[in-house]
Amino acid sequence: MAKEPSFENALAFAQDLIRIPSLSGEEGEVVARIRKEMDALGYDEVTIDEVGNVVGVVSGRGEAPPVLLNCHVDVVAEGDPAEWEYPPFSGTVEGGYLHGRGSMDIKGPLAMQTYAAAALAGNAPGDVIAAHTVYEEKGGWGMSHLMKSGGLNPGVVIIGEATQGDIAIGHRGRGEMEVVIHGTAGHASAPERARNSLDLVPAVLAAIEEVAAGQDSDSVLGQASLVATGIDVLPESRNVIPDRVTVVGDWRVLPSMTDGGLIRTIEEAIRRQVGEGMEGLAYEVRMASETQTAYTGVSEHRNLFSPGFLMDGDDPLVLAAAKAVGRRGQDDEPAVTRPWTFATDGGWSQGVFGLPTIGFAPGEERYAHTNRERLDVEEARWAFGKHRDLILALQAELAG
Ligand SMILES: [Zn+2]
Repeated sequence: MAKEPSFENALAFAQDLIRIPSLSGEEGEVVARIRKEMDALGYDEVTIDEVGNVVGVVSGRGEAPPVLLNCHVDVVAEGDPAEWEYPPFSGTVEGGYLHGRGSMDIKGPLAMQTYAAAALAGNAPGDVIAAHTVYEEKGGWGMSHLMKSGGLNPGVVIIGEATQGDIAIGHRGRGEMEVVIHGTAGHASAPERARNSLDLVPAVLAAIEEVAAGQDSDSVLGQASLVATGIDVLPESRNVIPDRVTVVGDWRVLPSMTDGGLIRTIEEAIRRQVGEGMEGLAYEVRMASETQTAYTGVSEHRNLFSPGFLMDGDDPLVLAAAKAVGRRGQDDEPAVTRPWTFATDGGWSQGVFGLPTIGFAPGEERYAHTNRERLDVEEARWAFGKHRDLILALQAELAG
């Protein structure tokens, strides 16, 4: 006898998930807990892939393409627990809110999605897949792996990042770039024996400003932006002339922009700034990268780049979603459609892999990553109920 897919049970499941900390790369325990719940809810198939994503399938009648529901399973660090009004891993429900790290980003919505799929057992024309992915908070390795490995073939992806009941249709992406300058180190008492790599910093900053001023704008997503956010110096001693300086930049990108394009543009701008006079210095422009290790033990060297995406506001799937969900308190009005401010795994599913993707979830974006993170319980109850209408409307649209 399968567990009843009620809102109350979903809320209790969300509390359980909050009580299991799950930083990126440490999601094993929370994934095991999700798998256990999917089994208890009577999912037809539950698997965990090689990077540790959990994929549950509720079979449909084969009359429409699958809908894929996605949340990530990692959360950001909690910081100083003393700064929290409620302990970050308590999962307390009080004052009408579910509190704690992950309550709205994203374990509350994850529980709603997981239960909404189970509630459609035997009633959906197509499969409903709940696929919850690792490493979203560090660039989306889990989602990019899930999309690359294929096999699921969803007609549409629904991302459970907070929209407060609106339909989200895209966001800018984010890249972290570095300009690494190489010179020759020396004792600060004898500058003539060294080649100070700091000498190139003014030209690099001017080049970044020049490229930033020429960034494109989009009427929905706003402007792409680029700004220098830090300078690292090696060696760090203050009586040594550094032979290696790294200027770090934060780049908010529009969907069409690629990291390769940015690197070339900055290289050209530095060359214009420097001209001939930089003998003894070399520089390299690249995306920041790191080796990431999944809790399953697999490693991959990855650029710190989360792509952006944008769906057409008049796309039939977007219109069907807005109509199905409606506006909370004014059901005959379609839901508001708008972009998110932050980046999500939708940049992979739509921006890179071209699958229609929208966002729908309870929760206010402004609480994400803060020590006041919370989810309005009544709003979550409303959104939980709306998932059924949303999934059925999207499958009806996909089936034509
Ligand atoms: Zn999130």
